[in-house]
Amino acid sequence: MNILVAGGAGYIGSHAVYELIERGFDVVVLDNLVKGHKAAVHKDAKLYVGDLRDDSITDKVFKENKIDTLIDFAAFSLVGESVSKPLKYYENNVYGTLRLLSAMNKFGVNKIVFSSTAAAYGEPDTDIINENCTTSPTNPYGETKLAVEKMLKWCDSAYGIKYVALRYFNAAGAHISGKIGEDHYPESHLIPITLQTALNIREKMFIFGNDYDTPDGTCVRDYIHVTDLADAHIKALSKLSETMTSGIYNLGNGKGFSVKEVIDTAKKITGRDFPVEIEKRRAGDPSRLVASSEKAQKELKWSPKFDSLDKIIETAWNWHLNNPKGYL
Ligand code: UDP
Repeated sequence: MNILVAGGAGYIGSHAVYELIERGFDVVVLDNLVKGHKAAVHKDAKLYVGDLRDDSITDKVFKENKIDTLIDFAAFSLVGESVSKPLKYYENNVYGTLRLLSAMNKFGVNKIVFSSTAAAYGEPDTDIINENCTTSPTNPYGETKLAVEKMLKWCDSAYGIKYVALRYFNAAGAHISGKIGEDHYPESHLIPITLQTALNIREKMFIFGNDYDTPDGTCVRDYIHVTDLADAHIKALSKLSETMTSGIYNLGNGKGFSVKEVIDTAKKITGRDFPVEIEKRRAGDPSRLVASSEKAQKELKWSPKFDSLDKIIETAWNWHLNNPKGYL
């Protein structure tokens, strides 16, 4: 069965491709390699280098491969950048997926798993977020993902394209083989920045705000291992094939850790100390995002295997220690 993975050279996409191949799927990857890395693509996947917004490449991919289902990871995902460059995010994240959905409709492909985000919620007034919470993004990144979820809903009712949208909380960690991991340029995510500071690649790191209404004043997030996310995509594929019903699911561990706690855990696991300074808040950051993943556990029969921050940071450290320059 051919699965088309858009954005399969990126951080989460490449981990999903590894899992799909390990479980016997035939995988076609479409990636423009703007953020993704060729070296992250599993050798057994068929790679097309091109942009979702270019109909000639999507036509070619659909004509040359009998695609059963799509998984769409192709997007820009930096909260801070999305605030300063919203049009860049709408252009890539919304228009790119719009072209992909057009191609699906044209070639009669009717199943898609879409990578959405906890940023779709904004800052709900609750400790644990479930899928019924209000969606009111505090940044353009979350807005673009929510816009696609809405587009999917209308494409389901008009064209019968069935979808599963997975709202990830904070993806983290690396494949246990150490062969693939997180490598963004420029890096903006907390765990890789912390580990790069432990490696002395950065002189020091910054905590963006210690005056939030949280126990230690720093932002709280729910970190979820990238291989657990990959597993959820495969479970979502099965659910779509079996039931042909659309749905939206949170994916997280259900436990919140503050920025300070993440840094302390990284210091413990690496056995290294490094300088940390307090900076002002980063635009668009909600104070606390912690998931209830009960719906995914029940309906997708999914549960995270990397269920502690220690386990997550250990795999990330293994990747960074052995690949201090990422894929370079
Ligand atoms: N953060 C930080 N210093 C950094 C990078 C991130 O204090 O160098 C904070 C950021 O403000 C947020 C949390 O760490 O509160 C997680 O940020 P990240 O960019 O990893 O993920 P996001 O929650 O934005 O998806």
